[in-house]
Amino acid sequence: MLMLPDPTRELRSTPKSLPIAVTKRYIVKDVGFGTESEFTGVADLVTFVPSYITVANLGESKSIGVAARWTRVEAVYIQSDLLPGALPALVQSHRDSLATGDPVTRALTSTVNGIMASLSSTPGLAYQEGSDPLPALEMLLGISPPSGPTLPPPDELGEDAPAISARSAHQYRLAKVRGASGRVFSNAVRASYSNRCAFCGAQFGGIPGIRSGVDAAHILAWSKHDLDVVPNGLSLCKLHHWAFDAAIIMPRREDDRYYLRFTNLADLLGHEEIARIGKEGQPIPDQWLPNDTALHPSSAFLQRLYADLGVTFRSDV
Ligand SMILES: [Zn+2]
Repeated sequence: MLMLPDPTRELRSTPKSLPIAVTKRYIVKDVGFGTESEFTGVADLVTFVPSYITVANLGESKSIGVAARWTRVEAVYIQSDLLPGALPALVQSHRDSLATGDPVTRALTSTVNGIMASLSSTPGLAYQEGSDPLPALEMLLGISPPSGPTLPPPDELGEDAPAISARSAHQYRLAKVRGASGRVFSNAVRASYSNRCAFCGAQFGGIPGIRSGVDAAHILAWSKHDLDVVPNGLSLCKLHHWAFDAAIIMPRREDDRYYLRFTNLADLLGHEEIARIGKEGQPIPDQWLPNDTALHPSSAFLQRLYADLGVTFRSDV
């Protein structure tokens, strides 16, 4: 579908059919689903809108942002007439079979295989058959592939510096890809917390003429989990957004209440800085949280975050 060798299928043009296939050359290792994914309540009518897929091919593993990849494929469609040899007809055929909205067929697979075979026999083009045909098509058309990664490289999410990497990936994706749904999330979180910071209670928002001073922070990074729901959010002032993103301080649910807990990263800070950030073990008053307890920070998401970041709490040491 995305012109990967042995195409996987994205749902853009296939509503209500199963989009993801394990393919011969590419192994789909992970799929992130967009917020538009819906479950109809009928077992065979689940609509998934993948936002990224992680694939392995030829010993390489990478994450592919579906929307960004699709934009590149469309750019190739538009100029396909300019391609040499059999390629214009093959690329047209790729476009035509997607336009039908039918599930991935053998015909589509053989079209992509045909594109790859054509590319490998195109003179002067260093293309290894079986590898991703899209960069080769872009090269033939003189299209510059988008600069910079469409997703943070997977090693950015590695274990060397999990706290920093997972969070920076999150920030990257927030800045780069999020549109309207991100604003909906931010507004919903801020409104649920009455524009209050959950860690210090400062109310820096909802003031006409002044831009809101509280941020809607994600508990689980959007880049990895795509959970734009209020229980995956925290309304935080700038200081606490930083301290939370840097994994210095975290809310923790203990006996039906939330407490502020410093992690061992706080050991790297001076006493004065720590005192500015907060007090170890301070309970978060109910008034700083959403009135509706169903919107409170999800314990499950928090637990997952601690595990993802490898957090050690000072109070546990
Ligand atoms: Zn604060």
